[in-house]
Amino acid sequence: MKYIAVVCTRCGRASAARADSKKHLCPYCGAVVEIDKATILAVGNAKAVREAVVRHNMEAG
Ligand SMILES: [Zn+2]
Repeated sequence: MKYIAVVCTRCGRASAARADSKKHLCPYCGAVVEIDKATILAVGNAKAVREAVVRHNMEAG
């Protein structure tokens, strides 16, 4: 299965979602993120996506 690292359009934090999803619930602020409109940091396996998510959220503070 492929995953994507999605940046929340409301709070700006990244989280992992399935690559085939259209919408994603942000685990931080509860916003429903439309994948089409969101920034995608990474696409790949679970490990690569998790690393991209962690890196983004560390930089964002
Ligand atoms: Zn959010």
